[in-house]
Amino acid sequence: MGQFMGFLNIERKNQKERSPLERTDDWNEYKEAMTEKEIGEQAARCMDCGTPYCQIGMIVNRGTSGCPIHNLIPEWNDLVYRGLWKEAYERLSKTNNFPEFTSKACPAPCEGSCTAGLVSDPVSIKSIERAIIDRAFEEGWVVPRPPLRRTGKKVAVVGSGPAGLACADQLNKIGHEVAVFERSDRPGGLLMYGIPSMKIEKDVVDRRVHLLEEEGVVFKTGVNVGRDVTAAELKNDFDAVVLCTGSGKRRELPIEGRDLKGIAPAMNYLTVSNRHLLYGEPLPPDLNARGKRVIVIGGGDTGEDCVATAIRQGCRSVVQFGKHGRLPDRRTAGNPWPEHPNVFSVDYAYEEAEELFGRDPREYYVETERFTGNEAGHVTGLTTGSFKKNRDGREQKKWDADLVLIAIGFRGAEDRLFDDFEIQRDPSGRVILADEHNYQTSREGIFAAGDARRGATLIVWAIEEGRKAAAAVDLYLDDKQSLLKSLFK
Ligand SMILES: Cc1cc2nc3c(=O)[nH]c(=O)nc-3n(C[C@H](O)[C@H](O)[C@H](O)COP(=O)(O)OP(=O)(O)OC[C@H]3O[C@@H](n4cnc5c(N)ncnc54)[C@H](O)[C@@H]3O)c2cc1C
Ligand code: SF4
Repeated sequence: MGQFMGFLNIERKNQKERSPLERTDDWNEYKEAMTEKEIGEQAARCMDCGTPYCQIGMIVNRGTSGCPIHNLIPEWNDLVYRGLWKEAYERLSKTNNFPEFTSKACPAPCEGSCTAGLVSDPVSIKSIERAIIDRAFEEGWVVPRPPLRRTGKKVAVVGSGPAGLACADQLNKIGHEVAVFERSDRPGGLLMYGIPSMKIEKDVVDRRVHLLEEEGVVFKTGVNVGRDVTAAELKNDFDAVVLCTGSGKRRELPIEGRDLKGIAPAMNYLTVSNRHLLYGEPLPPDLNARGKRVIVIGGGDTGEDCVATAIRQGCRSVVQFGKHGRLPDRRTAGNPWPEHPNVFSVDYAYEEAEELFGRDPREYYVETERFTGNEAGHVTGLTTGSFKKNRDGREQKKWDADLVLIAIGFRGAEDRLFDDFEIQRDPSGRVILADEHNYQTSREGIFAAGDARRGATLIVWAIEEGRKAAAAVDLYLDDKQSLLKSLFK
């Protein structure tokens, strides 16, 4: 259980970050691992409190509390404290297929509900998770483990984001033959072409994909299911199909001037930036922030990643509009533990903008009303009002801009594929399941998981969905070694 009273006697430390001025000169990960000694001390802060809210993984008051994949956090904290790293890795890999992704980019809802956080600072769970998986790769403990036997059952997984990869991993491990169909030229979903390399470097994604390949998972990239392969063909060739195609429909901003050049959806911008870095493909002039005044519309994580990308491309200035207000510095009475703390923080991109331009780029309660352009049809600026205007009487404001990125969220699963499979979606665009517990859609043998089913969310939820869908598929295939049954042993 760590060190007696450790959480009171030892100060919490976070993973170190490279200095903003240094890291904005490159595209490498902005965080640095802690030393073994530091990690041992952080693990000593966990008291194995007996009420491990850190691992409950529940939605409480519309936010995520605890780890959605129910990582066995107090157990591996203690193993790390005692220097039993291999055992810690074994416990971690029992619940998490890809700790190398979550330990870099998860917002760590486990820490928001850590019991130590009630009276002190929460345990640095994410940093410890990272140290375990880094050590496991360094020591060569993460090796391909192909199944000892094959069941003869074939499953098609469509989409290779974290949900598809987790689902494929689980099904392959118990012996089903798994083919992953991916329309992009490279597996990984948003891990590869959405999330910037400052958060997850791309060789980390490739490394895991290669491990899965060595274990027997077959990746069929450049195949757009619904066009290159039909739903009927997949149903015919496979015993089950799992649709993990993400939440690719974007929210739009249909206001005056939207058609001007220099206004682009955030995902187009982030995708070409990632492809430019991976393959040296030229950046289209309208998606290159160099020397430009950039405005990002949308206050979420995607918007933040656009800010960090624009900074690295050498933008002249950057501003990010959010429709909500600034979060409070501390939990409010309406946001008690173990809810996820909705508090103000200065994340990596904002730290960088402050260092380079002398101010936090975030503007609050901003409503974009119309875009303006020049005779060449290129955006030159925009006009905003305030979502709070009726209360504080704020006036309209004009902003200059050469590049505007729209990052206002997603509207659910893309239609064509699901129309092809004749699967219904709810008004938010999420796939409707016939039974919430078995991940099966209204079509027999067709399952859905990840952002396509849940709506745009987090890597860790996508992994959880992929694992649960795999368990449900296994039960459907009526294999004797049922994953679902083993969950209830
Ligand atoms: C910019 C950005 C930053 C983010 N940052 C974070 C973060 O820091 N931390 C975090 O936890 N979460 C983050 N997220 C959210 C996270 O990336 C997603 O929740 C997660 O990737 C969803 O996984 P998924 O497998 O359901 O779908 P996706 O990752 O979207 O993968 C779906 C895959 O399906 C493929 N596909 C779609 N249609 C077809 C078809 N017809 N045929 C074949 N293939 C198809 C797509 O090409 C894609 O590869 C971020 C999201 C974005 C957009
Ligand atoms: S996956 Fe996320 S929520 Fe779970 S232990 Fe790791 S950082 Fe915490």
